Amino acid sequence: MTWYERLGVRRVINADARLTRLGGSIMPPEVVEAMAEAARWYVDIDELQRAVGRRLAELTRNEAAYVTSGAAAGLTLATLACVTGPDPVRIARHLALFPATEGFPDEVVIHAAHRIPYDPAVRLAGVRLVSIGTVLKTEPWELEAALTERTAAVLYVAGAHLSRGALPLARVVEIAHASGVPVIVDAAAQLPPVENLWTFTRELGADLAIFSGGKDLGGPQSTGLIVGRADLVEAIHLHGAPNQRLGRPFKVSREEIVGLLAAVERYLRLDHDARRRACEATIAQWIDALRDLPGVRVFRIFPNEAGQPLPRLGVEPDPTRCRLTARELRDRLWDGDPRIAVSLHDDRYISLTAETLEPGEAELVVERLRRLLGDAAAASRA
Ligand SMILES: *Cc1c(COP(=O)(O)O)cnc(C)c1O
Repeated sequence: MTWYERLGVRRVINADARLTRLGGSIMPPEVVEAMAEAARWYVDIDELQRAVGRRLAELTRNEAAYVTSGAAAGLTLATLACVTGPDPVRIARHLALFPATEGFPDEVVIHAAHRIPYDPAVRLAGVRLVSIGTVLKTEPWELEAALTERTAAVLYVAGAHLSRGALPLARVVEIAHASGVPVIVDAAAQLPPVENLWTFTRELGADLAIFSGGKDLGGPQSTGLIVGRADLVEAIHLHGAPNQRLGRPFKVSREEIVGLLAAVERYLRLDHDARRRACEATIAQWIDALRDLPGVRVFRIFPNEAGQPLPRLGVEPDPTRCRLTARELRDRLWDGDPRIAVSLHDDRYISLTAETLEPGEAELVVERLRRLLGDAAAASRA
C-alpha cells in the first residue's frame, strides 16, 4: 500500500497543467535519486548554494543563478535585492527599519496587463505596486512617467497570453535602464521553450529572470530558479537562508538545491522537439478517438493557457444535444478513481493537456471521456 492509499488520498491523472494544487510535476527518477543522495550527508548550505549557483549560471548562460523555494519566493527575494542591492551595511539598515523603508526605494512598477495573482509575493518585500497602462494598452511614456527615485524595479510578467496590453520586454528594459532601474522577469511558467533560460536576461537585457523549478523543469515542487546579474544574485544570497534575514522563511533544503540542479541538467539534455511532437500526436489521437461522438465538438487549442508553444485538446458539449454540461463533465472526471484533472473554460468547454501525463494515462483519459460522453449521448437519445 502506498502512503496515499493508506491516507485515502486519491491519485490524480493530471491532464490540466503544471499546477501547484496538483503537485506541480512528477520528478524524473534522476532528480529523486540526486535528492536521496544529497540527503545522506551534512554540507555547508551557503557553500552548496554558491557551487550550485555557479553551475546553474554556466548551464543557463547567465552571470549568476540562485535556487529559491519556488518562483513566488523568488519574486520576494528578487524585489528585496533590487530594494537594497548587495551592500551588507545597507541590507542591515533596511532590515532594522523594516517594514518602514525610509531611504530605500519602495515601489515596483508593473503593467496593468501583468496584474496576475502573484502580486502578494512582491508586496511581501515591503514595496507598493504601481500599475501603468490598461489591460489593453500601455504607452512608453506611461512607463517613463512611473519611474522615480522611489522605483526599486519594474516587474515584467512574461507570456504570450499577457502581452496584449504590455510594452515589449526589450522596450521596457531600454526605458528602465535609462533611469537606472532594474527589470525582473516573472517567467515562472515560460518553459518550454528551453531557450527562455537565457533569452530574457542575455538577449533581452532583463536583470533577473525567475522560473518555477516544479513546473516543466521537473525539479522539486518547492523550488525556483533565479538567473541574472551577479550583484543582484549576491544580494539575494545575503537576504536569504541560512542568513536570518527577511528571506529566511524561504529556505531550500540541500536535497532541493541538488534536485533542481539535476532537473536543469536533464532539461537541457531533453529532445524538446520530440516532446512537442509527442504532445501533438496525443492531441491528434484524442481528437480522432472522440470526433464521432454526437453532440460534442473536439478541437485543438494553440498555444496553451500559459502562452507556451504546446497544444491542448478542447471538448465542448452541445447543450441541446448532450446530457452533460462542460462543468458536469469536468466534475465527473474529477470524481472518478483515479481522479482526472482538466480545465473548465467559461462553463462552455473543457481543455486537456498531454505533456503532464505519465505513460499509459493518455489512453485512460480518452477511455473515460468516451464513456462519459457516450453515456450522455445515449441518455439524450433515450
Ligand atoms: C506558477 C507561477 C508562479 C509561482 O511559482 P511557484 O514556483 O509555484 O512559486 C509565479 N508566477 C507565475 C506567472 C506562475 O505561473
